[in-house]
Amino acid sequence: MTPNRVRLRPDIEELAPYRQGKPAHVDAFKLSSNENPFDPLPAVLEAIAGASINRYPDATAAALRQRLADRYGVTEHQIQVGAGSVAVLSQLISAAAGPGDEVLYSWRSFEAYPGLVTVSGATSVTVPNTSDHRHDLPAMAAAVTDRTRVIIVCSPNNPTSTVVTAAEFEAFMAAVPQSVLVLLDEAYAEFVNSDEDAVHGIPLLGRYPNLVVLRTFSKAYGLAGLRIGYAVGPEYVMDAARAAAIPLSVTESAQLAAIASLDNEPQLLERVGRIAVLRDQVWQSLVDQGWPVPKPHGNFVWLTTGDQTEWAAGVFAEHGIITRALGDGLRVTIGESGSVDKLLRSAAEVIRNLRTAP
Ligand SMILES: *Cc1c(COP(=O)(O)O)cnc(C)c1O
Repeated sequence: MTPNRVRLRPDIEELAPYRQGKPAHVDAFKLSSNENPFDPLPAVLEAIAGASINRYPDATAAALRQRLADRYGVTEHQIQVGAGSVAVLSQLISAAAGPGDEVLYSWRSFEAYPGLVTVSGATSVTVPNTSDHRHDLPAMAAAVTDRTRVIIVCSPNNPTSTVVTAAEFEAFMAAVPQSVLVLLDEAYAEFVNSDEDAVHGIPLLGRYPNLVVLRTFSKAYGLAGLRIGYAVGPEYVMDAARAAAIPLSVTESAQLAAIASLDNEPQLLERVGRIAVLRDQVWQSLVDQGWPVPKPHGNFVWLTTGDQTEWAAGVFAEHGIITRALGDGLRVTIGESGSVDKLLRSAAEVIRNLRTAP
């Protein structure tokens, strides 16, 4: 052991720090972080202007929790608010799993999952996505062991934008022991078209006592920079999450902005609708170009680029489109309508050269 180094946890030292989507240079569109391209609503700016800064926020986010409880027909004790839904996810994993325990999820999925599991001390167990980039829920149910404490299901899945259907999810819940916590991460729920047979977690809470649903204000509601999200689930599980939380991390600005967003939801959902229409158009154009792109349900599309992913990301960047390279594919956010021409032009150039490029 080197004498002048402190002893750190080896699993943490090996962990790569969270890598953020690259910032866009001037004239480029940042389509690498699934952010909402719209400016905040005036009502949200007004709410933030009234937030106190020298005082600590309400640690319990009581007003927002009551508001969400009324909306979902649950009690305020069944809501936990955190500094982003990733914070709540971290609390729930730490509340249920530690050294020797397993946390199960599909892969490829949200890149924050492996790190959160490692920090909790538990072990990640992953089940590969199906060849059509969806969760393989029967294989996930079969991968449960007596060490499994948490299963994360992500629908729409980041980064492949595919959904779990209601029927698939119900069969899965029937196969999983009720002692295992199932976290349904619905960060992109608002972007799912209403005619899809996608799972919707909140109406199922009454049926499954081991289910917790995660939602966020970061994506559809455009509050990514303020950091606020929440979970809905059984009261004792939410109490455990509260016990595992860093106190006072949800600012008053974030709480007030979330309430103002709920007050002005029709305007926000109209924007979400416009993004979804644009997404479906982009998807159709990509299919016409010959891309084997799974039908997207979030505010992003998944382009499989194999071992030419870095090269493909470079082509997009040359056209002023910053994407997120993840393993064997590129995740591209549906952002400003003005970005679409460049996005499609880059995609056409990539698919033309995909097999012949260096
Ligand atoms: C963006 C995202 C979240 C939410 O992030 P927060 O900003 O922390 O609320 C959660 N899960 C997935 C899969 C996401 O893509």
